[in-house]
Amino acid sequence: MNEKWTLARTPPEGLPTEGDFKWSESEKPTPGDGQMLTRTIYLSLDPYQWGRRRSGIEAVGEVCHGRTVSQVVASRVAGYEPGDFLFNTNGWQAYGLTGEGVDIFTYMFPRKLDPKAAPISTAVGVLGMLGLTAYSGLYVQCQPRAGETVVVSAASGGVGQVAGQIAKIHGCRVVGIAGRQEKCDFVSDELAFDACVSRLSETFPQDLRDACPDGVDIYFENVGGKVFEAVLPLLNHDSRITLCGLISQYGRTDGKDPRAVWAETGALTFEKHSVAVHSLWVRNFVDDYQDRFLSEMAEWIRDGRVKYREDLWRGLAEAPRAFRAMLEGGNFGKTLVAVGHDPTSDAALDDRRAGSNVLF
Ligand code: NAP
Repeated sequence: MNEKWTLARTPPEGLPTEGDFKWSESEKPTPGDGQMLTRTIYLSLDPYQWGRRRSGIEAVGEVCHGRTVSQVVASRVAGYEPGDFLFNTNGWQAYGLTGEGVDIFTYMFPRKLDPKAAPISTAVGVLGMLGLTAYSGLYVQCQPRAGETVVVSAASGGVGQVAGQIAKIHGCRVVGIAGRQEKCDFVSDELAFDACVSRLSETFPQDLRDACPDGVDIYFENVGGKVFEAVLPLLNHDSRITLCGLISQYGRTDGKDPRAVWAETGALTFEKHSVAVHSLWVRNFVDDYQDRFLSEMAEWIRDGRVKYREDLWRGLAEAPRAFRAMLEGGNFGKTLVAVGHDPTSDAALDDRRAGSNVLF
C-alpha cells in the first residue's frame, strides 16, 4: 500500500498544526507509458512548501508537495531500470509516479543519482536546490571578495551552512547568526566560520556588532525580523544583500507582505549606503548555473571544504512534526525524513543519523 499525507485544508495563518494534514493509504499507482513507479527514500522538508500550502497553490486533497530521493521500482521509461536511484518529486508519500503526464512542481528535473559519487540524500540538500540557492545568492549575486565581512543568518540551517562555507572558500571573514548555543558552536567549531552569535541572546545586537568590527559587506538574509534590524546599522557603503528568505515572517498573522515590510524597514539604509539588494529565486539560476554548481560543490565536498549536517527524522508519519519543527527553529541542519530504507547506507549508520544530527 501507498502511505501518504494530503493537505486537509488551506492552512490559516500561523505555523502548521496537525489539522492541516490528513494521513491515508491507497493502492500503489501503476506506471503508464513513459512513466515509472518509484519508492521514496528521503523526503526534503523546505520552508517554501509552507508558502505553497498557505497561498492555495497546493489544493486541498492533493498529496503534499516535496522533493525526494527515490528508487525505481518499475519503469516504462527507456534508460531507467528498477533499482536506479533518482532525484524526483514524489511528495509526502511512500510511492509516486515520475515521467510523462505527471503534474509536478519542480525546477531541478528528475535525474539519476550515482551513490558512489555522493551520499544520495545530498541530492535534496547540499547537492540539490538548497546548495544551488546558497551558491547563486552568495557567489553569483554578491560576488564576494577576499577580506570582506559576510554575515549569514540561519547559519546552521540547510542553506545558511552552505552559503557561509562558500564565503570562506572565497577568503571572506564569515559571521554566522543562529539560535541555540549548540548551533552557534557547530557553526564556529565544525564549519569554521570566524564567529557565530546567537539571535536568542539578550545582547544579540551588540554581540553582532562586536563580531563585525569592520562592518558588514555582504548579508545573506534567511530570516528577516529582529535579525535583519540588528544587521542594518552595520551595513557598509556599497554592501550587498541577497534576500533569500524571511522565515521569521512566514507565520505572520497581520496579512502584511513580509517582503514589503522588509524593504520598508531597510529603505533608508539602502539608499544612504548604496546597498545593492538582490532578490533571490533559485529557479532563475538553474539553466545557467546548475551544472557548474554540481561539479564545483561535489569537489568542495570531496576536499572537505564544504561540510553539511542533516536533521533526519525517521518515518513518513513524522513529516508534519518535522515540518513544524523546521519552521520554528527546532531543526539542526537540513531537514529530511527517511521514508524508506536506503540500501546505500548501512543500518547502523541510519540509526545514528536518525534524530542525532550527525555531521557528515
Ligand atoms: P533552515 O535554515 O534549515 O531552517 C530554518 C531555520 O530558520 C531554523 O533552523 C532557524 O534557525 C531559523 N528560524 C526559524 N524561525 C526563526 C525566527 N522566528 N527568527 C529567526 N530565525 C528563525 O531552512 P532552509 O531550508 O535552509 O531555508 C533557509 C531560508 O532560505 C528560508 O528563509 C527559505 O525560505 C529560504 N530559501 C529560499 C530559496 C530561494 O529561492 N530564494 C530557496 C530555498 C530556501 P536558528 O534557530 O538557528 O535561528
